[in-house]
Amino acid sequence: MTSFDYVIVGAGTAGCVLANRLSADPKASVCVLEAGPSDRFELLHNPGALGLFMFTKKYDWSYNAKPDPSIRKGQPIFCARGKTLGGSSSINGMVYSRGHPADYDHWAELGNTGWSFEEVLPYFRKLESNSRGASRYHGVGGPMEVTDCEFQYPISKVLLEAAEQVGLPVTEDMCAEPFEGLAGYQHTITKNGRRCSTADGYLHPVMSRPNLTVKTNAFVVSIDFEGKRAVGVSYEEGGKRTSIKANREVILSSGAYNSPKLLMLSGVGDPDELEAQGIKVVHPLPGVGKNLLEHPAIFLMQKSHAHAGVQLTVAGLLEMAGQGIEYQVTHLGKMRASLVESGGFLKTDPKLARPNIQLMFEPVLFDFGTQDVSSMRTHGFSCHIGALNPKSRGTLGLASPNPSDPPVIDFKLLSHHDDLKTLVDGVRLVRKIFAAPAFAKYRKEEFYPGADKESDEALGQAIRDRASFAEHAAGTCKMGTDDMAVVDAQLRVRGLDGLRVVDSSIMPTLANGNIYCVVIMIGEKGADLIRGG
Ligand SMILES: Cc1cc2nc3c(=O)[nH]c(=O)nc-3n(C[C@H](O)[C@H](O)[C@H](O)COP(=O)(O)OP(=O)(O)OC[C@H]3O[C@@H](n4cnc5c(N)ncnc54)[C@H](O)[C@@H]3O)c2cc1C
Repeated sequence: MTSFDYVIVGAGTAGCVLANRLSADPKASVCVLEAGPSDRFELLHNPGALGLFMFTKKYDWSYNAKPDPSIRKGQPIFCARGKTLGGSSSINGMVYSRGHPADYDHWAELGNTGWSFEEVLPYFRKLESNSRGASRYHGVGGPMEVTDCEFQYPISKVLLEAAEQVGLPVTEDMCAEPFEGLAGYQHTITKNGRRCSTADGYLHPVMSRPNLTVKTNAFVVSIDFEGKRAVGVSYEEGGKRTSIKANREVILSSGAYNSPKLLMLSGVGDPDELEAQGIKVVHPLPGVGKNLLEHPAIFLMQKSHAHAGVQLTVAGLLEMAGQGIEYQVTHLGKMRASLVESGGFLKTDPKLARPNIQLMFEPVLFDFGTQDVSSMRTHGFSCHIGALNPKSRGTLGLASPNPSDPPVIDFKLLSHHDDLKTLVDGVRLVRKIFAAPAFAKYRKEEFYPGADKESDEALGQAIRDRASFAEHAAGTCKMGTDDMAVVDAQLRVRGLDGLRVVDSSIMPTLANGNIYCVVIMIGEKGADLIRGG
């Protein structure tokens, strides 16, 4: 049987970081198995193509959450997840923020030694090649290019003007004190206007290392155990099942949906749930798949006069085609930008100790919680309002013992009343911003929730009817010391040998911002822990 020192499952956001850092030791052999295809497809590298991949199963796992009658009238919610080299970093919005220092200090307070903000900050700096230069909060010379917003859509800047007009804070850098306020986001977009996924930043530059093997279209179906030690994995490639051996460790970097799924398929999880699926228990670990975290959200959608945003009208489509050609020839124009140019972190009540909502402004009348694009035929703009510090907790389970079946994703979105209240307050705050003089020349009537929805009850129901989330799934293999923890602070699966989880699923609570660079930090720190131990 082929063997490697390290076998990494998933060449996604964290998996690419590990592939690079572990194979930097020429004496260590590393194999990365990725279920998706290569990322050679040109549109994956084109920032303006964001959103396209919601409509293809080739590069997206395209899961649907379990229907919940109290959310979206029981309609399934689409859960995007990248399936290619770079994983979700190859299809995401490229928005760069990292939450609040208190998020990480809380992880340390929960018993996760080594994960306080001061301890993880060096990893955030290490991953960056930030166009702003080096500072206490930013780094240079790292694999990920992080650049300032160029404001290709002038209306994105109007958000900041409007916020100032209504007395809300505008800031220079969301990753620095006071960790509050609206700004132009930084993005993981290169100076040449190309997406910088972790495959671009970490994997492709080292692909030729002789000790690194990367296999695409390799779908891992189980972790192989000898007693309590993980000794390898089995995967399917072109209809054929193969097993490979890990001399030192198997590392799961398959993401918040697929890492817990793989543990359960391999007999690690809640014994009752495993037995119900006819799966033999290798190791009881009741926390696997519990603690599913997300930032619940609602889009406030406003009809408008034309503002050079994105519309699915004949003129809009012609304009997009022109932009596509311009981008292919010169790498200039709107296609070099993420649609999400501005936003940030606000308190709905000034008395709060830290921000409780995140805004992401979009120059389009669209709700990314659905695949229904009909609203895009109308001119408009939208604001994603995400509830920070979410208190609702969901679960992820198996639908069957068949690895090809999608997992059962049950977010239990807004099951905690405080999350709903935060969104109600958030809608009121964004209405105030949209009503500011700066928006006067664009503003028409509110498309959703609709100006007639004013009371807590009416707004609360409207939010439930169109609730979505930020695509920040995490927490399903949480790090900790309590009985429901799946990994310890070294990211080792508790009670087993030779097995770690290094990806978004280890977060015990959600980092309260965009979590992509948090996952890269986890990959960087995880690599150090693995090499050190
Ligand atoms: C549409 C979208 C937009 C987003 N926008 C932003 C944003 O603008 N900013 C931000 O900070 N965050 C954003 N996020 C969130 C962020 O991208 C993710 O949280 C993060 O990338 C997850 O990293 P991960 O390593 O945990 O998983 P992933 O990056 O998803 O990697 C998991 C990898 O494992 C592979 N895999 C899974 N199962 C198997 C298996 N059985 N065998 C082999 N391989 C397997 C997958 O194909 C994938 O490549 C967005 C996410 C999505 C989906």
